[in-house]
Amino acid sequence: MGSETGPGTESGTGALTDTRGRSVSYLRLSVTDRCNLRCLYCDSRMRQWLSHDEVLRYEEFLELMGLGLNLGIGKVRLTGGEPFARKGFMEFVEAARLRFPQLDLRLTTNATLLEPFAPRLSAAGVARINISLDTLNPATFARVTGQDLYAEVRRGIDACLAAGIRVKLNAVAMRGVNDGELAGFLALARELPLDVRFIEYMPMGGSEWKPEQVWRAADILAEARTLAELTPIERGGGPSGSNDSGPAQMYAITGGAGRFGLITPLSNHFCGSCNRLRITSGGVLRTCLFSDRVYRLRGALRHPKLGLAFVERILRLASQVKPLGYELLAARRAGQGVCGTAMSAIGG
Ligand code: SAM
Repeated sequence: MGSETGPGTESGTGALTDTRGRSVSYLRLSVTDRCNLRCLYCDSRMRQWLSHDEVLRYEEFLELMGLGLNLGIGKVRLTGGEPFARKGFMEFVEAARLRFPQLDLRLTTNATLLEPFAPRLSAAGVARINISLDTLNPATFARVTGQDLYAEVRRGIDACLAAGIRVKLNAVAMRGVNDGELAGFLALARELPLDVRFIEYMPMGGSEWKPEQVWRAADILAEARTLAELTPIERGGGPSGSNDSGPAQMYAITGGAGRFGLITPLSNHFCGSCNRLRITSGGVLRTCLFSDRVYRLRGALRHPKLGLAFVERILRLASQVKPLGYELLAARRAGQGVCGTAMSAIGG
């Protein structure tokens, strides 16, 4: 399995690193594969849900978080499917905060069920929430998501802001769907102290992706500059100097309370600085969004003799050979997804 000190160390010490010099410090945990929306870019209609026994218990997620912390993972994002669609999610967040007070704990949600939980999330020290919202038009929202829940999302956003939680809105940029809405999103970011970020539409499994639907970041930016005065913010130039923008290029909006940003997985990949691992609700580890290579952790985690020590070995070995997603994207044949799995199952 490798030498004691170099790459291949099976029960090494210290942080998770790979052979390209990247280190892993960020874990995304998908707490459920189920979602109350049926977004056209993340189609879950054809999917078979995991059975109750196949889904990791909250206690098992807590064990993985504890292991991650020991391995240098200081930031955990809870996602799904839709995390609030899983029973007991709020209590799980509170339990995670109590057990790991030092953890930078974040959430990604569609916000349809969020509003009543905002004060508790704030009290539990969840300071930042990503909310997926592709349109500011209720009819388009219903068409994209299959559900008439736009008003619920807007109330969720307002409740978070009122509770002092920083909000990032993520919109999947789709030609023919929301490419007429830039002015509206910029107006929102002027009015409210939140980040509006457009993310390029990726050819993920299960989506109805077509090349002509991709609304490239360069085109979005060019149009946005005709609508607002935008000043690039250096990475690490977030509130209080924090590096909280992840792979997004952010812009200040002159006269605006909020900011504007672009996430460019297609046109300008950020694989060289990727620091993340994903674990799905079924306990499957993915080291790259664009790769179908998976590592099944659940059996080891539940095995009386293997347990967390063995999971640690898998995490170390898998991290070392973490792929470069853009190579996989480039190798994709026309008409193919980059991986065979929808984001709702991976944990976006
Ligand atoms: N239910 C939660 C939510 O809506 O935020 C968390 C999971 S959802 C899969 C996370 C996000 O992944 C989506 O809202 C969207 O921003 C992103 N996503 C899913 N499929 C995508 C695709 N094909 N291209 C770009 N982003 C995608």
